[in-house]
Amino acid sequence: MSYSSTSPSPRRAMKSLAWSNTRITVLERCERKYYFSYYTFALKQEYPEIWQEALVLKGLKSIEMWIGEKSHYLLSDYLHLFKSWVAIEKDGEEVSDTVRVQAIEELKEKIKAEMESEFQFSKERDYRDYQDFFGKFWLSEHFYGEEVDAKLPSAIEKVCANLDRFIASNWHSKVQDYFETAKSVYVESPRIPDFEAMKVQVSKIPALRNVSVMAAPDFGVVFSDTDYVILDRKSGKEDVLQEGISDQIKVYALKMLLKKGYANLNGVRIEGQEVYLNTMNNYGGVLMQDDIDGIVTKIEKDVGLQKKFLVDEDPVRNIPVDAMMFTKTSSVKKCESCTFRSVCEKFKV
Ligand code: SF4
Repeated sequence: MSYSSTSPSPRRAMKSLAWSNTRITVLERCERKYYFSYYTFALKQEYPEIWQEALVLKGLKSIEMWIGEKSHYLLSDYLHLFKSWVAIEKDGEEVSDTVRVQAIEELKEKIKAEMESEFQFSKERDYRDYQDFFGKFWLSEHFYGEEVDAKLPSAIEKVCANLDRFIASNWHSKVQDYFETAKSVYVESPRIPDFEAMKVQVSKIPALRNVSVMAAPDFGVVFSDTDYVILDRKSGKEDVLQEGISDQIKVYALKMLLKKGYANLNGVRIEGQEVYLNTMNNYGGVLMQDDIDGIVTKIEKDVGLQKKFLVDEDPVRNIPVDAMMFTKTSSVKKCESCTFRSVCEKFKV
């Protein structure tokens, strides 16, 4: 079944086109995966037999992704606590080492219990029962019937070790310094994502009108109206080839500038760093105007590519072109770890 670009299509998008670093990475990795991830609704009428399964797969995460997510939660919980301790000490009261050690142990116990319960829930679920399925926690390894019980203790260990490494690193004292001296410090709360706050105000960039650009840093420091620091923690493997400031950090800087009304540094100093939790190495620096101009050009180019997969290239209706236009990757390696491989095999397009 197919639809021409001019015929009315039953495939209905809920929202206008969105750009994020994750979305464009998925599109560059595999167009078919991009289709399954962001246009799942399009399957409902044309391919109902795989639509529900694709919806379930969309919510899956691998154990590695889960470790990353839990590391972010634990670090964020700790940073909120750390910030409160600094505030207490600023008011003249002492927070003893005993209190700190105990609080850190409690945070670790909490994340451990959370992970054990989620793992058990995921393991026991009937993956063919689509009732009451959505919004629940699932590991892709369980969906695909892999025996991964032995991986749970090491997953918990890795998450707790990420916090320990942060506390033992020089980033801990830097962060303390930010809490003590900055005008304000923002610590993200990843357990309660604020999608409105993630939006970048791009209405002043003509090529990005009608497109939602999403970005939310983990940690932001405001020293003054012209002096900022952005930190982003990374739980994945360190990219040893990484040089300079990442696109992700540049998008965060752009977001801050656009909030002020212009995509121009105009004397504003923004330093951005990505910190890898498995080594505590960091990559980044002070942003230059070329970085800001470059990221605007990149997002415009990315959005141009995304629009090619839309009927009439219309970002407002955001209706995907026929599924066959989203080609599969030829990389077996990418498919091996793809959570959509089950529906991809059944999807004869
Ligand atoms: S299984 Fe392979 S081809 Fe299919 S969506 Fe995933 S990465 Fe793409």
